[in-house]
Amino acid sequence: MSERYKYTGVNSIKFNDCFRSDDDCYKYIASIKWDGEKFACKKCNHAKFCNGKSPYSRRCCKCRYDESATSGTMFDKCKFSILIAFHIVFKIGTKKKGMSTLELSKEFEQRQDTCWEFKWKIQQAMQSSKRFPMTGEIYIDECYFGGPEEDKPGRSKGNKRLVIIALQKLADGNLGRAYAKVIQNASGLEFKPFFNDYIDKTANVVTDKWAGYLPLIPEYPNLKQIPLKWWIEFSGYPYTHNEFKRMVKGHTPSL
Ligand SMILES: [Zn+2]
Repeated sequence: MSERYKYTGVNSIKFNDCFRSDDDCYKYIASIKWDGEKFACKKCNHAKFCNGKSPYSRRCCKCRYDESATSGTMFDKCKFSILIAFHIVFKIGTKKKGMSTLELSKEFEQRQDTCWEFKWKIQQAMQSSKRFPMTGEIYIDECYFGGPEEDKPGRSKGNKRLVIIALQKLADGNLGRAYAKVIQNASGLEFKPFFNDYIDKTANVVTDKWAGYLPLIPEYPNLKQIPLKWWIEFSGYPYTHNEFKRMVKGHTPSL
């Protein structure tokens, strides 16, 4: 693999061929991280280095600071091998309709909460790039989070923050990706940037009957408004609003 080679594409045979061992993964991530020979020590900015302790790490020749290939990346302090981590990223990045943590846990024989933690890191990376809008069945709602009035139902008042939430329902009924954003008010104007960043135009979007979603229908022709509280439809089970909010919080730790 050349130093400047960057893996792109969705061909799993090629991917499996490129990444067969931990060594392949460390070598690759080091080549991307330092882009060939460019190096600047994080502690003293010195440009000369020698090999460090861990695979493909770099040690500053001046202050002896040893920087691993994975530090500052989503692979740092990962609870499973970097080879497994690479393959999970590939699966999530290439499978258009996403993968639940249950599926990941079965396929890679790892604990489900460990998979959840790592999947969350991947989602953060994908969210910041905004290059992977969600497809398939997407449920969207807006509600208030925080403040002392949390247990009172409805869209009311106080110091709460209004948040728009989008959840992806996978074919097996499990939750795929989830995004949330604080908005100023529940208008189409506020909804639009959130939709444009995270929702594919072909997605089968489901919302409640709130009129603020109407201006988005020309751009999202598969948007369907249903009179029922949509989280009942999503789960097949009548969650109360607070149970639903706890579920969303569990998937979007920044809330
Ligand atoms: Zn240094």
